[in-house]
Amino acid sequence: MGDEKRRARKIVGRLREAYPEARCSLNHESPLELLVATILSAQCTDERVNVVTSSLFRKYRTWEDYASAPASELEADIRPTGFFRNKAKSIQGACRRIGERHGGRVPRSMEELLGLPGVARKTANVVLGNAYRIASGVVVDTHVSRLSARLGLSGEKAPEKIERDLTGLLPESDWIDFSHLLIAHGRKVCKARTPLCGECVLAKLCPAAFAAGA
Ligand code: SF4
Repeated sequence: MGDEKRRARKIVGRLREAYPEARCSLNHESPLELLVATILSAQCTDERVNVVTSSLFRKYRTWEDYASAPASELEADIRPTGFFRNKAKSIQGACRRIGERHGGRVPRSMEELLGLPGVARKTANVVLGNAYRIASGVVVDTHVSRLSARLGLSGEKAPEKIERDLTGLLPESDWIDFSHLLIAHGRKVCKARTPLCGECVLAKLCPAAFAAGA
């Protein structure tokens, strides 16, 4: 095993010790709820999405509930998450296709998920990894991008390329948890503006430790 892979595994090990509870922070009880929550989470905090979905999921229980709702009503119900017109269109489009092509079930493959309107690779990875525990890739959000750069795990900017680097470094069994671990660490310690390197469990493994503006 190369040095970089070994270092990546140590990073995962230390993060697992530091954040044993790290998991998907979007509340959901079914693949459909997670799909909807993930669509709503674009450009919005998970906390706000959870507030909105706590009532949304009581009102809309099946794909048909979303598909048959007047667009204006669904838009009003999800408005606090921002970009509500586009998000309502994506949710309704995805739900119609789930009903028409997938027997009312959220599909379990990357290819089929990418065929749903408004679903890109990141959303598909979230659903496959967290609703079905299928390791299809690594979810790359803003925390994962920032920490991958600081930790020297990827020099890329585009999420797809960062994901390719991470999946090359880590065993498949770590793909799902790795994003939760990096997100937890990014929120608590390796913050965007002021990383708290002095209290970071990764400091000895991190090329950006204590660098000004790391
Ligand atoms: S040492 Fe600093 S820059 Fe590196 S991961 Fe920790 S907090 Fe982030």
